Amino acid sequence: MELIPYTFNPWWGCTRVSAGCDHCYAERIDLRAGGGHWGKGAPRRTFGEKYWAKPLQWDAEAARLGQRARVLCASMADVFDAERPAGALERLWELIRRTPHLDWLLLTKRPARIQRSLPPDWEDGYANVWLGVTVEDPAVAVQRVPLLLETPARLRFLCCEPLLGPVNLTPWAPALDWVIAGGESGPGARPVHPDWVRGLRDQCHTSGVPFFFKQWGASRAGNLLDGRRWEQLPPSLGQRILAGRIRSSRHPVDASPTSSSLRNRPSPALPLESDPYGARD
Ligand code: SF4
Repeated sequence: MELIPYTFNPWWGCTRVSAGCDHCYAERIDLRAGGGHWGKGAPRRTFGEKYWAKPLQWDAEAARLGQRARVLCASMADVFDAERPAGALERLWELIRRTPHLDWLLLTKRPARIQRSLPPDWEDGYANVWLGVTVEDPAVAVQRVPLLLETPARLRFLCCEPLLGPVNLTPWAPALDWVIAGGESGPGARPVHPDWVRGLRDQCHTSGVPFFFKQWGASRAGNLLDGRRWEQLPPSLGQRILAGRIRSSRHPVDASPTSSSLRNRPSPALPLESDPYGARD
């Protein structure tokens, strides 16, 4: 996703946990690179100092430009995997603390492990961490979304990709800050029904939750839904504080209109009255 320019993997490797893992692209990439890092008991692949220093460079660049940058964390792993390399998660939290100009997207299929994995100074969440769970079908939604919402965080999001069934987010939508949806791609991809995507879009609209439709996947090209792209993003941290959605406590930000957090690009915020769905053409 080009709106997330950086990807950082504290390690490679994982164990499948649900139907959304059936065609895990990360496992395929690992196999092409030699494999051996997937499944219970398999050692995870680790990386050296030079790799771990990269986010510090990205942070310096973001500071220089006066523009926050997003980092997808653990595209080749699950950040809350119990079998992570010793000390890797603690080192990741330290790195996140040292990179205040980066917004880290931590996405997991293991929300039951989030609370025990948070750092001692997490309190109501680090200002630069977006916490999300993957939701591929209705059964998983019931299991994972409440666990996410029980966890204090400055921004909570869902990644409904690969979308494998009609998910009803209505009970939880008002507490969510962002929903991403997408179909599956790659060998053996399962098709996504347009009504499943429409359902999520409409539930988000009703609750004022920004909705981002990433791709149809194998079923068709592109990301047009009913002739439009749906690429809404959550409001910036400053905007969420001003709107009263979160408290500004131990991670104060300058919420003035000229602050860098408000200049965070792009922030179409919630749907506009004049544009029923607030989607970009
Ligand atoms: S949790 Fe993610 S990385 Fe792990 S097996 Fe499932 S899809 Fe792959």
